[in-house]
Amino acid sequence: MLRHFLDTYSAVLHFFKGNQIKAEINEVVNIDRLRTIYEGYEGDRIVEIRFIDPRRFTVQQRNFIYALIGDIFLYYGQSTEDLKEYFYFLFEGISGRNISLADDSKSTVSDANLLADIILDFIFENNIPFKKGYEILPANQEYYFYKCITKRVCCICGKTGAEIDHFDKALGRRSRKKVDHTEYTFAGLCHGHHAEKHTIGLTAFKAKYHVKGIKLNNETIKKLRIGG
Ligand SMILES: [Zn+2]
Ligand SMILES: [Zn+2]
Repeated sequence: MLRHFLDTYSAVLHFFKGNQIKAEINEVVNIDRLRTIYEGYEGDRIVEIRFIDPRRFTVQQRNFIYALIGDIFLYYGQSTEDLKEYFYFLFEGISGRNISLADDSKSTVSDANLLADIILDFIFENNIPFKKGYEILPANQEYYFYKCITKRVCCICGKTGAEIDHFDKALGRRSRKKVDHTEYTFAGLCHGHHAEKHTIGLTAFKAKYHVKGIKLNNETIKKLRIGG
């Protein structure tokens, strides 16, 4: 999710039809750098296209980010101003751009999403407890629920040591060792919330907690020992 900016370019879209696009890159591409990347590589040249949401960040995004920073403050006691400065600094290192959430800022929805992901990452990496489940904004949900699984944190109450549930489709009587776990979705749930899910059922549980099941790749499944 987090990327380095040396091989990242922005471009303006001029034409878009079906799966064809034409875009003008905003700066001259560093050919030497690309040569290093492709040194000895004969396969397809793959690029990643990301459509930027150019609207100014929303109040909900700012509130979400401040709520995350507030929890870090409660844990470390470091001033929220210092924490903000630190995360803005990390953002600049990753994106090569400045960010500000001040009223006169022109930072975009996409920038605020990236900043929120950076702070979420910090929270999970440092095991910072969050007392109540966050109202996770849609753009950060994928990352949030993924991190809850890999860090074994309950995505509802933040309790650590969570269990990993086969979320949208139960394993049932199928053998854990024989099924292809990449076809399933997962969620990190504490013992209490896990039990509640199986008591009230998936539909009622989703309506109550808005949990999103996340797919995992084989490597992650192996690392988490889901395949038994
Ligand atoms: Zn829980
Ligand atoms: Zn389960």
